[in-house]
Amino acid sequence: MSGTFSCDVLIVGAGIAGLMAAHRLEAAGKIVVVVDREERVGGRMITEHVAGGWADTGAQFFTVRDPEFGRFVAEWLAEGLIFEWSTGWSDGSLLPPAPAAHSRYAAYEGLTAVPRHLAQNLTIHKAVNIETVTPAAPGWLAVADSGAAYQCQALILTPPVPLSLALLAAGQVTLAADDQAALTTITYAPCITAVCHLDGAINLPEPGALQRPDHPISWIADNQRKGTSPRVCLVSVHVNPAYSRLWWLSPDVELVGALRRELQPFLTANTTIHEIIIHRWPHALPTTLYPERTLLAAGLPPLVFAGDAFSGPRVEGAALSGLAAAKKILGY
Ligand SMILES: Cc1cc2nc3c(=O)[nH]c(=O)nc-3n(C[C@H](O)[C@H](O)[C@H](O)COP(=O)(O)OP(=O)(O)OC[C@H]3O[C@@H](n4cnc5c(N)ncnc54)[C@H](O)[C@@H]3O)c2cc1C
Repeated sequence: MSGTFSCDVLIVGAGIAGLMAAHRLEAAGKIVVVVDREERVGGRMITEHVAGGWADTGAQFFTVRDPEFGRFVAEWLAEGLIFEWSTGWSDGSLLPPAPAAHSRYAAYEGLTAVPRHLAQNLTIHKAVNIETVTPAAPGWLAVADSGAAYQCQALILTPPVPLSLALLAAGQVTLAADDQAALTTITYAPCITAVCHLDGAINLPEPGALQRPDHPISWIADNQRKGTSPRVCLVSVHVNPAYSRLWWLSPDVELVGALRRELQPFLTANTTIHEIIIHRWPHALPTTLYPERTLLAAGLPPLVFAGDAFSGPRVEGAALSGLAAAKKILGY
């Protein structure tokens, strides 16, 4: 995409934070453009098409703790977009899952169906990789690597914070010292994930998932039993943060070998592994968070930072941060 575009609010990032912000701002009558460097919306809520099936390869489910997000979830349930998948997971021991305080929701067509649903009536420019942002009175100018330029009155940045800071640095923007200090303390844990295509079946406890944070393979989930891949057995696997760091630079072929060995005890008789596709998420989950839902930059045209690092390291946190960013722009 090239050319120059004008809008009231430019939102960088079509993950759940950016889409929730856009939703709220459009409802308030603002002209909003959302840009994302990917060809799709959803960010870390991604469902991948593999061998004729669908597998959630980023976020696996979401929870609801706050009534503001709960109202959206109630609508999505009523519309038949999502379902309650479980109230807890086995850790692989003989103990029953710990009683859960929160329902875990998944989407019938994979978790990316939620951002796709939110994106329906929004103006979204995909495959637009913003490279620099600079103040340009009365707002901001954001320029993509394609040369596309976006002139806006207010800017919301929702990529993982180190990426947002890089856009400002490229535009030679100096943040107020307190803002810079607060933003540079935000950290993320990486996560290596895999989609495993099986010819056969995998033996996992109800409802077809295993969560054991202290084990190198911290999450294993059967997308067929989850319902997102009815015809093909696709298994989503996550490596825990410590092992993701340790294995980050290992060649895929070695990771595939390790994952094959880890999965073997769970495979039913005669099941074979066709293919294992590895994905590396450098900024999977925020580990040091900003204490507020957003940060409104001081001393600059309206610039709001949002995303899961500003509210909670999960889908709900990102969604609430997006809503809060919109409110900041609207001035309430
Ligand atoms: C492997 C994994 C498993 C997870 N499991 C769960 C789970 O089970 N439950 C849960 O609640 N949460 C889970 N999470 C966390 C959850 O996915 C995130 O908290 C949430 O999706 C973050 O949303 P966001 O909008 O803040 O950021 P993102 O989804 O990361 O969106 C940011 C967007 O910005 C775009 N972008 C970045 N740079 C640029 C640029 N220069 N120009 C244009 N666009 C740009 C990116 O492409 C991306 O789409 C998981 C995350 C991962 C990676």
